[in-house]
Amino acid sequence: MILVLFGAPGVGKGTQAAILAEKLGVAHLSTGDAFRAAIKNQTEVGMVAKEYVDSGKLVPDDVVARIVEEAMGGEQFATGCILDGFPRTRAQADALDGLLSAKGLSISKVINLEVDDETIIGRLLQRGRADDQEDIIRNRLNVYNAETAPLLEYYTGKGLLTSVNGIGEVDEVNQRVLAILS
Ligand code: AMP
Repeated sequence: MILVLFGAPGVGKGTQAAILAEKLGVAHLSTGDAFRAAIKNQTEVGMVAKEYVDSGKLVPDDVVARIVEEAMGGEQFATGCILDGFPRTRAQADALDGLLSAKGLSISKVINLEVDDETIIGRLLQRGRADDQEDIIRNRLNVYNAETAPLLEYYTGKGLLTSVNGIGEVDEVNQRVLAILS
């Protein structure tokens, strides 16, 4: 099963992806986590990604493709995975389709977690990651609306998108997501 967890920063993609990966026994790929690890380890990709991640801009698609190809080459991704924070642009969506079809796979579902902006800002300020400062959060939300949200229409057109209310306790939201998958 290839599941895409979709939504603005702070809607709970990472939290839900981790729980689902555990419950369903599939791999979890967070491109944000992959970039933070690459930055920490000062890899070539990390050095390029750093200024984008720090300022809340999207890392260029070709760099994203490199990190995703590397991660999805792993054996644990052979049968399925939960994608969290990828794809974020139409070019990334096309790249994903290409990667998957080469393996004879396709996206099972795209789950769009919906949370209003003020709730998102409150959540992220509480989380307090390096890029969770109010001006950077607002920038990330603008980037989401401009560059990522258009994919909602793309995946709706493919009949893959289901929206879920992302407000509430973690378990509650998880039950809503599981209900869609069953
Ligand atoms: P996240 O952990 O998903 O909130 O991502 C944190 C940051 O990593 C983003 O603000 C971007 O700078 C970068 N990033 C993560 N995933 C992607 C992606 N698919 N495309 C471009 N940039 C990304």
